[in-house]
Amino acid sequence: MTETLQNLLISRIQKTGPISLTEFMAEALHNKNFGYYTTRDPLGSLGDFTTAPEISQIFGELIGLWILNAHQQQEIDGPLCLVELGPGRGTLMSDILRVLLKFANIEGLLEVHLVETNPILRQMQQKLLGNLKVLWHDDLSTLPDQPWFLVANEFLDTLPVIQLIKNGDRWTERLIDYDPARGHFFWTSSGSTSRLSLLISDHVSSKAPTNALLEFSPATLGIFKTIADNTSKKGGAALLIDYGYLKPNFKSSIQAVHDHKMVDPLSNPGTNDISCHVDFQSILYESQFFELNFHGPIPQGEFLISMGINERAERLKHGSSIQQINDINIAVKRLTATGEMGKLFKVIGLTPKDSPTPPGFMT
Ligand code: SAH
Repeated sequence: MTETLQNLLISRIQKTGPISLTEFMAEALHNKNFGYYTTRDPLGSLGDFTTAPEISQIFGELIGLWILNAHQQQEIDGPLCLVELGPGRGTLMSDILRVLLKFANIEGLLEVHLVETNPILRQMQQKLLGNLKVLWHDDLSTLPDQPWFLVANEFLDTLPVIQLIKNGDRWTERLIDYDPARGHFFWTSSGSTSRLSLLISDHVSSKAPTNALLEFSPATLGIFKTIADNTSKKGGAALLIDYGYLKPNFKSSIQAVHDHKMVDPLSNPGTNDISCHVDFQSILYESQFFELNFHGPIPQGEFLISMGINERAERLKHGSSIQQINDINIAVKRLTATGEMGKLFKVIGLTPKDSPTPPGFMT
């Protein structure tokens, strides 16, 4: 068999049986030779999807102002550690830095820390941000022992999830098998009750209809707890933005995108962007175990409007051509309108305990 990700997964399934969705996602996205995020730049019109910072510079500028405000609220000894998780092409960080350098005299204090696994995107980030002190990390464990001013846009949705399905009064794990006759992967379920079902409260379990599906992302919660721990013990602030839900709707949220179109998540592993909606309820639940102020989740549209997206757009339109004005209007609508990114995308903020409510979250 030639070495492809498909063959690697098939031989694993043939040896040890159906695999978990977590394993399938981890291999499809991060396999060191064939993973989606190891082998390409997925962004932009020639890639598979477009993100908010790629739509308009205003997105990053407003986040820059948010970070500046959080920094000015605190007395921080030592460097201003800007951290971004999954920085893509570096566009968001570059827009944030433009604002910080314009409004504050902090150039000598700035340290930029990027958590990025994709070697192609790392190169693009280096090109865009190379004149500043930038350090790359494979994960959060090597970030400095300092307060972090952290941002992550469309990062949590890439993290693997586990899915459980209700069969009668039992919850079994949804797994992935391979059908050699038809030549494709298919969904199946573990015969036995999943131990993870112990995490489902009786209240949720009794309300769930037959075939209901629940998703868990230990990776997302692990990363959230690391950030919350840093903010509660050292200060700093964090802004996490992603698509997701406030209450589970008992359906699978896994999706795969290729060339801006939805495709079957189990087809051609390694060539599609696979993601899941973020479970904001479980993040909110975890936040209560940390001494910090938790803000949101609020819809992205509300956050951006409250941060002044419309006013900033008007400023940008001065001296612009009709075409440019049109582009600005389209971008603002994409970022804020309910039927576009305005409602599905949500924003949460973390600030130190007893700090004032930050801009963007005041209702
Ligand atoms: N934040 C960017 C890009 C979002 S795409 C934007 O808004 O445009 C997801 C990003 O997360 C990519 O940079 C991808 O390479 C990175 N990524 C995905 N999984 C990761 C992981 N487990 N660890 C670090 N980076 C990861």
